[in-house]
Amino acid sequence: MPTMTIDGAPVEGSQTFDVVNPATGEVAAQAPQCSPEQLDDAFAAAQAAGRGWRADVDERRKAMLRLAEAITAAGDELTADLVLETGKPVPVAASEPGICAAWLQVFADMEIPRRVLQDDASALIEVAYRPLGVVAAITPWNFPLGLAMWKIAPALLAGNTVVLKPSPFTPLATLRMGQIMGEVLPPGVVNVVTGGDDLGRAVVAHPTPRKITFTGSVAGGKSVAASAGADLKRLTLELGGNDATILMPDVDLASAVPRILGTAFFNTGQACALPKRIYVPDALYDEAVDAFAAAASAIEVGPQMGPLSTKPQYERITGLAAEAIAGGARVATGGAPVDGPGYYFAPTILADVADDARVVAEEQFGPVLPVLRYSDIDDAVERANSTMFGLCGSAWGADVDAARAVAERLECGSTFVNTHAALLPTVPFSGSKWSGVGVENGVEGLLAFTEPQVVHTARV
Ligand code: NAD
Repeated sequence: MPTMTIDGAPVEGSQTFDVVNPATGEVAAQAPQCSPEQLDDAFAAAQAAGRGWRADVDERRKAMLRLAEAITAAGDELTADLVLETGKPVPVAASEPGICAAWLQVFADMEIPRRVLQDDASALIEVAYRPLGVVAAITPWNFPLGLAMWKIAPALLAGNTVVLKPSPFTPLATLRMGQIMGEVLPPGVVNVVTGGDDLGRAVVAHPTPRKITFTGSVAGGKSVAASAGADLKRLTLELGGNDATILMPDVDLASAVPRILGTAFFNTGQACALPKRIYVPDALYDEAVDAFAAAASAIEVGPQMGPLSTKPQYERITGLAAEAIAGGARVATGGAPVDGPGYYFAPTILADVADDARVVAEEQFGPVLPVLRYSDIDDAVERANSTMFGLCGSAWGADVDAARAVAERLECGSTFVNTHAALLPTVPFSGSKWSGVGVENGVEGLLAFTEPQVVHTARV
């Protein structure tokens, strides 16, 4: 039985809950359910650990590098847990321990700014960036380890301590990583507790954390914001996306389409920052639909593309596809679940889909990609922006300046030219509109785990 990590020690839950393997649909493991008293213990441990942890930044850097090594050493074990609980093919799952190590190494090396605003005969005025205290981190099921480390690495460098709650669909690898963190870091610096959405609500409502950093759905984010706002907790929300990708009239379909498709269906389409709507000029439309369909039908379901990671997501994708087809969309390839056990869905390209079909207007989060026609680039940009989502976007074309001009008109936190979702620890990542509040990654992401303190030394 996997255990939670509280104050550096393994802790069993008061009860357990089922973890399903989405490749089979069968219950594959049990995970501990955190009780209210155990949650209090976790926050108390984080609070107590903060006094020592915030004192010495060099010690923090060394500990983070030791943690990167320990996670790398446990890579196979963590990958096996991820495969079991998410259904990811091994190469996709195996990237996550590497992401954790990379994020720890980059943040361990990052400078915490201290700005001098005035330095003259009358005063030295500086701005220092202090840790916030205890941070509560809540994560989704699509990249359980990587997205947790996007939060943990900058939070730790800044001098905070952490209580982490993963998704109830995918607690196993995070519990194991929690044990490793408990072994490598001082007790209480990172605590991992598991349970459902109710536990998430209790984490946000708890009086101890001074910051909530949440990655998940828009609905979850709105609920978290309301609860955190009542206690004036600091907040970072990384929420859903419905990224538009615009093909320019001079795009080279032969090179662009396989790359766009490979990104759109990465992790079975279950990532926030992927092409989710493709806008294609009239003159290229039929050729582009055929090229997307050919690339999608060449994907080997199973070895190359895993199942949807949860039953609700499988049911949602099945419903969205059926609804679009019933509404007149043309199936260029796929269109239905794959026969057999598990939550597998055929890689699907839909043509001639109405703009108001939910598979276009909402975040589908699965391997069903609508290809939409446009005749006027201004119209394409307007339709791309006619949504409350604003995570990423991209434009693809031979004339890079023209494509960049279109990409910059997209209302989103990151816009790309001839690529999509190239995410790095040094580059800030954020969402516009309902896609998020605040920033992760980069110096901006580090500062989000701090608050400024003015240090004004008079010299007269
Ligand atoms: P979700 O909102 O259902 O759950 C996410 C986490 O929040 C889970 O741990 C859950 O238990 C918890 N939770 C749910 N409701 C809560 C509440 N009211 N208060 C506190 N905690 C609560 O999301 P999900 O289905 O696990 O994840 C998929 C979503 O995450 C998609 O919309 C996807 O786009 C988004 N996502 C965004 C990013 C990003 O960086 N912007 C990255 C990955 C995933």
